Amino acid sequence: MKKHLHITHTRVLIVGAGPAGLGVSLALQRAGVTDQLVIDAREVGAAFRAWPNTMSLLTPSFYSNAFGLTDLNSIDPDTSPADFLHTQHPNGEGYAKYLEAIVSHFQLPVRPGVKVTSVKKESARFIVQSEQGEIHADYVVWAAGQFFHPRDHDFPGAEHALHSSRVPDWSALEGDEFTVIGGYESGVDAALNLVHLGKSVRLISRGEPWASDDPDPSRSLSPRTLDRLRELLKTPEKAGLIEFVKNTTIKSIEKGPGFWTLRDQDEIPLATTTRPILANGFHNGLGIVSDHFEYDESNNPIFTEEADESTRTPGLFYSGPALVHRNALFCFIYKFRARFGVIAAEIATRLGLPEVEANLKTYADAGFMNRDLDCCTNCECAIDPDDAETPEPASFAQL
Ligand SMILES: Cc1cc2nc3c(=O)[nH]c(=O)nc-3n(C[C@H](O)[C@H](O)[C@H](O)COP(=O)(O)OP(=O)(O)OC[C@H]3O[C@@H](n4cnc5c(N)ncnc54)[C@H](O)[C@@H]3O)c2cc1C
Repeated sequence: MKKHLHITHTRVLIVGAGPAGLGVSLALQRAGVTDQLVIDAREVGAAFRAWPNTMSLLTPSFYSNAFGLTDLNSIDPDTSPADFLHTQHPNGEGYAKYLEAIVSHFQLPVRPGVKVTSVKKESARFIVQSEQGEIHADYVVWAAGQFFHPRDHDFPGAEHALHSSRVPDWSALEGDEFTVIGGYESGVDAALNLVHLGKSVRLISRGEPWASDDPDPSRSLSPRTLDRLRELLKTPEKAGLIEFVKNTTIKSIEKGPGFWTLRDQDEIPLATTTRPILANGFHNGLGIVSDHFEYDESNNPIFTEEADESTRTPGLFYSGPALVHRNALFCFIYKFRARFGVIAAEIATRLGLPEVEANLKTYADAGFMNRDLDCCTNCECAIDPDDAETPEPASFAQL
């Protein structure tokens, strides 16, 4: 039987106990917001626990906080996964442990096992339905991530493929020859793991991401992945197991008896005798709150520049990897954490709390409270809206 919630009202409700939700919760705590609640359908760091067991963070961790350069993977200015886990590239399990330690050290008010099924705003209050009961809140921060929203129905027959996020262990897959659709981080990670297991892999990608020199890691392979790829290519037997197929968009998959047929943009068929692996990323994860947001012509959700709030439903904020401002993607932890302090300051100020800016000074000093979005228009990673022919994919958002 599902446990019923006894809490019926909170000033601030945060949905999602991953880095985005916990990061905002910490910033709110620092800003003096004590009446807050974080809920999660699963457990703290659930997405990281569900990662394939060989996967680790691409962004390096290094304890440099004392010199004003906070560990790239930390979610508050003072802690460091490198210091906590003693590793440069934490795996999913390790990073989830870091998040759990944060919850326990800072005594964040987290309730796991509470799944939100709808969010409505009536007068000035949110009515949030969950499978465990109704919660009323003055403000909602949506931080439900993307991992549990794989793009597994994006084209005809996509459901015949196995989405990379659903593979807990690459060594458990049967077969010797694999076809991976998607040449960004998840696809290359899948290919590397399979080749190291002695399997041959055909890696199909829309463009040629392994050759991209775009400076934004949201649009090209990370240095970590390129290092792994170069290392593998040094060994001729292993290099011979991987085939790179560029400029190819798979448009459909048909399932036959014991084989699958993939068709590209020119209807050219490619056959495979193992279930194709789909490494094409994730939907934006707004899910049940998607109607509360407006969208631009590229179908990106629109957030206020002041504090990442919905332009359609005031009081509903967003934290996480679907954040876009001035065409720049915030899909890495070190990117979206730059707004934790901004969201917290806005909510704390509206709640009438004193000395909000002073309380969040460490956030501002450490780059966790970036209000200057000029970086999004001036830096080289801004998307050119006129560049419609070659939409640049984000490493995680759309592989
Ligand atoms: C394979 C992979 C590798 C990555 N590597 C890196 C990297 O190296 N560096 C980096 O910076 N980023 C990386 N990312 C991106 C980063 O992991 C994500 O951006 C990050 O997990 C997002 O954090 P989040 O808190 O928004 O979401 P999540 O960590 O997914 O947390 C969201 C939480 O919300 C909960 N939830 C969802 N729906 C509901 C609901 N209806 N009700 C209640 N709770 C709900 C989920 O259970 C989950 O626990 C990677 C992502 C992937 C998929």
